[in-house]
Order: sequence, then structure tokens, then C-alpha cells
Amino acid sequence: MQPSTKEAAPDIRCGLLSFASAYLHETPPKDRYMTVLPITIWGEPVLHRRASEVEVFDDELRNLIADMFETNDAANGVGLAAPQVGVGKRIFVYKFANDDGAPPSGVLVNPVLTLSKISGAVPDPDEEEEGCLSFPGGQYPLKRADWARVKGFDGEGQPVEFEATGWFARVIQHEYDHLDGKLYVNRLMDRYARKAMKQAKKSGWGVPGLTWMPGVDPDPFGH
Ligand code: ZN
Repeated sequence: MQPSTKEAAPDIRCGLLSFASAYLHETPPKDRYMTVLPITIWGEPVLHRRASEVEVFDDELRNLIADMFETNDAANGVGLAAPQVGVGKRIFVYKFANDDGAPPSGVLVNPVLTLSKISGAVPDPDEEEEGCLSFPGGQYPLKRADWARVKGFDGEGQPVEFEATGWFARVIQHEYDHLDGKLYVNRLMDRYARKAMKQAKKSGWGVPGLTWMPGVDPDPFGH
């Protein structure tokens, strides 16, 4: 997910400071360099189908998680799900300094989500605009639950659980959706959905195999 250009940017910079400590928990084997992976774009089938449960917590999983942190960082994202790097597994990473007492960055494997009720009000185009690294450049308003509880596992198979509110809750919901084959653009109200589909068509998306490369291609959100 992309940070809001309006208010979340300072949080992202704070998140950078704590990023190094996250790596201490996610140390890959010493003979291996972390890799920035290409990010899949709208139309790539792995983005649009339900990802499968992780069954084995091994070095391969931990290497993937390390690469996902690296890729999210290179893309200036606040979160990244495995289908966005072409892997249909139930894993996402986030990097978001929060007031909820959760670590400022982390990984959730096989997460389960509990949400508060989502308001039926029209989303605020200034305060509730979302973006997605797999729908590069687009930002559209969407209502989300204000509160979420997430339970899952880290890369070692240890239980992880925390609550999230506000924008942090939005990040968690956005990333979780990816594991069910859903992008935020699938949830937009009609008028924004039409705009998003127009953008996709104009960009030539909606077909398999499209990716972009963080750190190589221009940052689609101008960060
Ligand atoms: Zn996304």
C-alpha cells in the first residue's frame, strides 16, 4: 500500500529509523543478499485469486519475507503482500509507525482479521484516499473500518497479535485484502471504480505478466 501523500508521510520517515531493528528479527542467512523484487500490476492473475496458507516455516519463507521488506522499502510503501511479488501465499509485511503499541514494522503470515463496522458514509476524498503499489499512480477514496485486530505468525512461526486503529488499521485491511485476491479498487464506490478502470485501460493493464521495478522505474507516486 502507498502512504497518503497528505498526512502519513511523516510517519513513514519515522518508520525508516526503526527499519534496521526489524531486520535484526528477520536476519536472512549470512551468505545471501536481499533482493528487490518486481511488483505485479493489476491484471496479473496471482493478484486476483485467493492466496494459499503457508504450511512450512523454513529459510525459503524467511528469505521471501526479507525480500518483501527490501522491496517495500525500495517502493516507499507502507505495506506489501506476497501476491504483489508474484507469490500466492498468505504473507504481508508492513512498515508503519503507529500509536497502537504494535512494532513499527513487521510481517504477518496466515493472518486472521477482526474488524469494527465499516461506516456506510461517503469516503472523504481528502482524508481517505488509498493507493496500491499494484495499481501504480492511482489514488481513490475508500471507507475502511477504524479498528482491526490481526492475529497471525511471524517468519519463525511464533504467534503475532495486535490491534490497529485509523490509518494503521487501513494498512492492515488493505494488505489483508491482497491475500483474498482483492485490491482496494475492487471496493470503490461506482464513480471512483469507473475512474480506476479508465486508468487501468489507459495504462494497458488488465493482462497477465506486467510488473514494475522499484528503484529502477520512476516512483509511480512521486516519493
Ligand atoms: Zn495494495
